Amino acid sequence: MKLILASNNANKLREFRSLVADMDIELLSQREAGCDFEVDETGTTFEENAYLKASAVTAATGYAAVADDSGLCVDALNGEPGIYSARYGLGHAASDRERYEYLLKKLEGVEDRSARFVCCICCTFPDGSVIRSRGECEGEILHSPKGSGGFGYDPVFHPDCVDKAMAELTPEEKNAISHRGKALRAFIEELRKI
Ligand code: IMP
Repeated sequence: MKLILASNNANKLREFRSLVADMDIELLSQREAGCDFEVDETGTTFEENAYLKASAVTAATGYAAVADDSGLCVDALNGEPGIYSARYGLGHAASDRERYEYLLKKLEGVEDRSARFVCCICCTFPDGSVIRSRGECEGEILHSPKGSGGFGYDPVFHPDCVDKAMAELTPEEKNAISHRGKALRAFIEELRKI
């Protein structure tokens, strides 16, 4: 079966490829499938945005396509940055560090630091059927950054289930507990059934 990843992100492509390595799946990036467009993420939820990206690629290619959408939701900020995590406060041009420093400033003096990473995966098929999965990782926003691994908000996120900041984990340790790891494993389980 041919499956298109609705993204050109090399890390995501590598991660997905390793998960479907033992399955009869040829996984192509959006570019490899000849789709040069970027889909506007106009949805109001992670689920909607993942669906928009996957369904646009299925419509353009006639093949099954899979997309993910993820972000960080902070309770004291009513779920912000949420679906706007990649451009929170400062637009797309800002660095990861500028973005997490902006978040720390917003949380100055705030006692409730609870937050979660969320990842939603959506796979659309030419016959109109859809597979959806969701993974979450609960934790707290630190008062200052720790660690140098990962990306995005990892240095200021402390998952509840480990004794380290997300950015202090190895990629394998992060994958075992992360929102993306959980959503991916749930998706692969569903995919195997068909
Ligand atoms: P996207 O789903 O790849 O567009 O990611 C959205 C944004 O959410 C990223 O740019 C990061 O700012 C944030 N994010 C998503 N997953 C993670 C993660 O595992 N660690 C840190 N930040 C993340």
